[in-house]
Amino acid sequence: MTTVIKSPGHMQAIISQLKKEGKTIGLVPTMGALHAGHQKLMEESRKTNKITVVSIYVNPTQFNNLEDLEKYPKTLDEDLRLLERSNVDFLFLPDYSSIYPDAFTYKILETHLSEKYCGAFRPGHFTGMLTIVLKLLNIVQPTHAYFGLKDYQQYSLVKKMKEAFFIPSHIVGVETQREPSGLALSSRNTRLSESDRIKASKIFQILKDETSIEQKKQKLIQEGFEVEYLEKLDDRLLVAVWLSGVRLIDNV
Ligand code: AMP
Repeated sequence: MTTVIKSPGHMQAIISQLKKEGKTIGLVPTMGALHAGHQKLMEESRKTNKITVVSIYVNPTQFNNLEDLEKYPKTLDEDLRLLERSNVDFLFLPDYSSIYPDAFTYKILETHLSEKYCGAFRPGHFTGMLTIVLKLLNIVQPTHAYFGLKDYQQYSLVKKMKEAFFIPSHIVGVETQREPSGLALSSRNTRLSESDRIKASKIFQILKDETSIEQKKQKLIQEGFEVEYLEKLDDRLLVAVWLSGVRLIDNV
């Protein structure tokens, strides 16, 4: 049974009791419209922790584009069924006024990595993301928190925030889950037409092939993608493209 908890205070009271009982806790933060990528994070959490908490919150402060926020898919009934099937113990489902008692007057500002790659095109996005993640980590106080490597810059920023603020939770990165075609699973894929979905699978194929970054960029453009950036971060090659008004990211 997945128990749904809406209030941060109620969640904190439950966590405090679980900690007294010596239970380890895994947290999987999400924005809902759950798919097999999210499910993999839950699976990893269940392997390591006694209790798994999934949060669903479409965090408005990390959307720099109102249309993107409004069009973000919301599928709560299906999400609940997936959480039950995945044996998730708690769904934390806050709303804006409960999770932002400060009305977003307090923020986490990172001034280096957050301004590059996706951050260069989505001003304020990572401030909103880091702020909500810190709130969730403080409320749930997980032993482990799980993040997908599909959002590699996000994972990197959260890991560095852990170090900067001495956050005791372990931050775990989970490999990108893909469709058989290679397309990285994403809640935004539901906004693609069938033919765009086939086209979108080329992103991964082009990233992987043995060509230079410039050649890959040209191939993406030839295929009809609008390329935002294609750049290396650590040992990874990161890409963000637009296809029919949908922004897609991936990395290898
Ligand atoms: P989202 O709901 O898109 O904000 O994603 C919630 C978490 O799931 C983030 O840590 C994502 O990186 C992760 N995630 C999303 N898609 C995938 C995927 N295809 N494979 C692995 N993790 C994913």
